[in-house]
Amino acid sequence: MRQTLDFLLNEWLHVATLNERPRFADHSAETFASVLDTCERIARDKFAPFNRLADTQEPTFDGDKVHLPSATHAAMAAYVDSGMLAAAQDYDHGGMQLPCVIEMAANAFFSKASVALGGYAMLTSGNASLLMAHGTAVQREVFAKNEFAGRWFGTMCLSEPQAGSSLSDVATRAVPDGDDQASDPLGPRYRLRGNKMWISGGEHELTENIIHLVLAKIPGPDGKLVAGTRGISLFIVPKWLVNEQAELTGERNDVALAGLNHKLGYRGTTNTLLNFGEGKFPVRSSNGAAGAIGYLVGQPGQGLRAMFHMMNEARIGVGLGAVMLGYAGYEASLDYARQRPQGRSIKPQGKDAAAPQVPIIEHADVKRMLLAQKSYAEGGLALALYCARLVDEQHTGDKAAAIEATLLLEVLTPIAKSWPSEWCLEANSLAIQVLGGYGYTRDFPVEQYWRDNRLNMIHEGTHGIQALDLLGRKVVMDGGAGLKLLAARISITAQAAGQVAGLAEPGNALAEALQKLGAATKAAWATGVPEEALANATPYLQAFGHVVLAWLWLDVALAATNSQSAAAQSLKPGKLAGMRYFYAYELPKIDAWLGVVSRREALCREMRAEDF
Ligand SMILES: Cc1cc2nc3c(=O)[nH]c(=O)nc-3n(C[C@H](O)[C@H](O)[C@H](O)COP(=O)(O)OP(=O)(O)OC[C@H]3O[C@@H](n4cnc5c(N)ncnc54)[C@H](O)[C@@H]3O)c2cc1C
Repeated sequence: MRQTLDFLLNEWLHVATLNERPRFADHSAETFASVLDTCERIARDKFAPFNRLADTQEPTFDGDKVHLPSATHAAMAAYVDSGMLAAAQDYDHGGMQLPCVIEMAANAFFSKASVALGGYAMLTSGNASLLMAHGTAVQREVFAKNEFAGRWFGTMCLSEPQAGSSLSDVATRAVPDGDDQASDPLGPRYRLRGNKMWISGGEHELTENIIHLVLAKIPGPDGKLVAGTRGISLFIVPKWLVNEQAELTGERNDVALAGLNHKLGYRGTTNTLLNFGEGKFPVRSSNGAAGAIGYLVGQPGQGLRAMFHMMNEARIGVGLGAVMLGYAGYEASLDYARQRPQGRSIKPQGKDAAAPQVPIIEHADVKRMLLAQKSYAEGGLALALYCARLVDEQHTGDKAAAIEATLLLEVLTPIAKSWPSEWCLEANSLAIQVLGGYGYTRDFPVEQYWRDNRLNMIHEGTHGIQALDLLGRKVVMDGGAGLKLLAARISITAQAAGQVAGLAEPGNALAEALQKLGAATKAAWATGVPEEALANATPYLQAFGHVVLAWLWLDVALAATNSQSAAAQSLKPGKLAGMRYFYAYELPKIDAWLGVVSRREALCREMRAEDF
C-alpha cells in the first residue's frame, strides 16, 4: 500500500508542488514523507496489534464509568504525542500546517491498522476544526486548543432516536440560562434538554473532559420549536464545566450516559445514548434552573450550516476509512492466497490428480476476486486523495482553481463517501470468500474488516440520502455547472488515453460511459417531477461512482505509463491490470443502473406498502 500511496501522491497528484504555496513553504517532499513514516510506524506498533482486542473487549459500563482496554489508552496517547490531532492547523495554534491531502494520507495508516481505535481522534479534530471556523476567540482558545492538544476529546451530537436522516426533526431544546446568559465569556449560555442517539465517543475515561457539540432548537416566544432545519442551533456542552482559563471547575454537567450501543463492528469506539438535562447531575441548580449547560456557537438557527462546514472533509474521511478497510482485507487475502495450497490447475489435457496442489492464487477465479478487491481499494484510494487534493485547492489555490475545486467537490463528495462504503465493503466480502471457511472464522481478521466497514453506508448520511443529494441537488445546481466541469476533466483523460498505445480502447469506453451518464441525468429530470427522477437515485449514484472510478483508474494508468521513474515502472503492470479489470468487469454494470434511471422506472415508487 505504501508504494501505491507514494506513487499517487508524488507522481499522480504532484503534492510537492504544494510547497510553492506560502502556507506550505516550510514543507518539502522529505517532511511529507517523514510524517507518513511516523504515522505508519505508530499505526503498526500501537494500533494494528490491538485491533482484534478492541473488538473482543467491547466497552463496558458499570453504571458509573465506561471501561476500555488499556491498549486503547496507549494508542490514543501515542496518537496525541504525534501531533496529528492538529496536523492541518496553523503553527500559531500548535499545528503543522500540513496540506489536507497529506493529513488524510497519514491518517489512512491508522484507519487500516484499527479504524475503531482511530475513531476518537477523527471526532476530536473534526469537532475542534469546526470551533476554529465558527467559535469565538474564547471558544477557540478554551475548547478547540485543548482538543487539538489531546487534553480533551470531542463528539458530534446530531442524531436522536427519532431524528437520524431527517435532522429537521431534532427535538432537543435549548433555553436561555438566566439574565446574565448573554454575557458569559464562554458564549451565550443555554440549558439543554433532550436525548442524543448513536453518539460515538460519547463517554470514556481517555481524557479528563469530553466536549460535546450538540444540535438543538431554541423555542420561539410561543414556546414552540421552529419546524425544519432553520431552527437548529449549535452548542458546546462540556461533560465537566470549565472556566475561561480552561480549568475544570469541578462541576459535573448534566450529561448522562443512558447506555452503550452494542454494535456489529467498530466496537473499539464507544457508541452511546446520551441524556442531556434529565436531572441526573443537577448543575448550578440553586435558583431552580435545570438542564445541561451549553454555550451557543455562531448565530441561533445556523447550527446545521456550521456542522456541515466540515462536511466535505468528514465525508472524504469516512470514504477513506472504508478504503483502508478494503485495503486491509485485500492484503490479508492476497497473502493467504499465496500460501494456501488447494486444487490443481486446469491443463489442456485436464487435471492431474497426482500433481502437487497449487496455491489458490493460481486459480483464475481467485485472481478475479483479488483483482476486484485491488480495483476497489486502489481506485478508492485514488478517489479519496484526489478529493483531499481538491480541498487544498479550495483553501490555498488561486481564485479560479478554488472555484473549480469547490464545484468539483460538490459533485464528488457524495461519491467519495458512498462509493468506497459500498465497494470496499464488497472487497471485504470477497476477502472472506478468498479465505473460504477460514475467512468465516474469528481466527482471521477479514470478518472483522467486513463488520467494521458495514457502518460506512449508514453514518455520515446513508447511501440513500447521499444518492438523493447527488441526483436531487448536486448535479442540477448552478445549471449543472459541477457536472459539466467534471465531464470536462473526464474528457481530457479520455482524449489523452487516445494518444497512448494500449489505452485508446478504455479511453473510448470512458467517453461513451460519460455520454450515457449525461443522457441518463437529462432523462431522469425530463418530466421535471422530483418524485419520478429521485425514485432511482441509488442506481444513479452507483453508475455515477463507477464512471468516476473508471476515469480515475485510466488517469492513474496514464501516469504510470508516462512516468519513467523506477517506482512507476515497477507498479505499472499491476496498475494496468487493475484498470483493465475495472473496464472489463465493472464499467459495463452502468448500463443496468442507468437503464432504470433513464426510463424513470416506477416500480419502487408505485409499490404499495401493503403489497409486500
Ligand atoms: C456506529 C454508529 C455511529 C454513529 N455515530 C454518530 C455520531 O457520532 N453522531 C451522530 O450524530 N450520529 C451518529 N450516528 C448516527 C447516524 O448518522 C445515523 O444512524 C444515520 O444518520 C441514519 O439515521 P437512522 O439510524 O435514524 O436511520 P433512518 O434515518 O431511520 O434511515 C433508515 C433507512 O431509511 C432510509 N431513509 C430515511 N429517510 C429517507 C428518505 N427521506 N428518503 C429515502 N430513504 C430514506 C435511509 O437511507 C436508511 O436506509 C452513528 C450511527 C452508528 C450506527
